[in-house]
Amino acid sequence: MDSALFDVAIIGGGPAACAAAVYAARKNLKTILITESFGGQSIVSDNIQNWIGEAHISGMDLAKKLEAHIRSYPEVIEIREGEKVTSVKAIDCDTKLRVCDFEVTTDKGFYKSKTIIIASGARRRELGVPGEEKYKGKGVAYCSTCDAPLFKGKKVAVIGGGNAGLEAAQDLLQYANEVYILDFGDTIKGDPKTLEEIKKDPKLKEIILNAATSEVLGTDLVSGLKYKNRKSNEEKTLEVGGIFVEIGSTPNSEIVKDLVQLDEHNQIMVNFQHARTSHPGVFAAGDVTNDPYKQNNISAGDGVRAALAAYDYLLARQKISPAAEEPQNL
Ligand SMILES: Cc1cc2nc3c(=O)[nH]c(=O)nc-3n(C[C@H](O)[C@H](O)[C@H](O)COP(=O)(O)OP(=O)(O)OC[C@H]3O[C@@H](n4cnc5c(N)ncnc54)[C@H](O)[C@@H]3O)c2cc1C
Repeated sequence: MDSALFDVAIIGGGPAACAAAVYAARKNLKTILITESFGGQSIVSDNIQNWIGEAHISGMDLAKKLEAHIRSYPEVIEIREGEKVTSVKAIDCDTKLRVCDFEVTTDKGFYKSKTIIIASGARRRELGVPGEEKYKGKGVAYCSTCDAPLFKGKKVAVIGGGNAGLEAAQDLLQYANEVYILDFGDTIKGDPKTLEEIKKDPKLKEIILNAATSEVLGTDLVSGLKYKNRKSNEEKTLEVGGIFVEIGSTPNSEIVKDLVQLDEHNQIMVNFQHARTSHPGVFAAGDVTNDPYKQNNISAGDGVRAALAAYDYLLARQKISPAAEEPQNL
């Protein structure tokens, strides 16, 4: 165990965590940032066009800039890269004052901190059907921005008709010969303008509604998928050489599921004014929260808010007055 007691432990290495770290450093807080890697989810994008201040930036360059920025505060930020947090628990609690310290456990050690900022983001949801795991990287893909060119001249299916699914179809129409969109529901929920646009392309062969994908088929590579029509129960096979799964994301909130309140989608519930969670001293920022807008700039703003709120909490905690430690209302 690192015997130091940090002021703030930040979990994550995306825009939310890096913004929180910069602000924590500027408040001179003794900070530890623990992340598996830097950059966050959009690292796979080769052209981000809405990161404020940059008309175009690749996800990789954004990651480098975020990392470089926090590495410019070596005197206050300790960085643990390549380390996975497995749990966070409250320790040494003064129940009367509702003040605790926290122990962060990782795959490599333990750290103690007075406050926590959870900025662990989200990961792609998977289908969870037979064959998916086996054919990952062999025709099953989760990032059209990264992988669409690999499917040049092929027949591909996009699972999911939300915005992500429609954008994936848009990417794929530039390369694939035939594109199919399958959606679980009975309507396409993605942006009507994008839908209108892609429907004009004759390579968009079919939009299949009420389709519950049940299996990924293949030999060495993907050769198709099975789906069931949820209305008629009829099972069908679609022959495709690629399957893009675009069915949303799952927040990386498991590490605090026993510590803070989550919503029905396992997102950490926060008070948007102060980035507070249901546990005093624990703050959350970015895609792991119930903020409806999942964007780089919003995550960075959330991270700033969480760091400032943690700073205010620490100032109040120094006084250790019951009034300063009232229960946190979401
Ligand atoms: C393909 C794609 C393209 C996108 N393009 C854009 C775009 O153009 N513009 C835009 O604004 N948004 C875009 N987004 C959305 C944007 O990427 C997210 O809103 C943003 O990354 C969220 O930032 P975050 O810091 O909250 O979390 P994340 O980016 O998810 O970062 C989470 C970080 O936490 C780390 N982590 C997770 N769990 C643990 C753990 N247990 N222990 C240690 N570390 C952990 C991860 O390694 C990662 O560094 C895109 C998303 C995707 C998937």
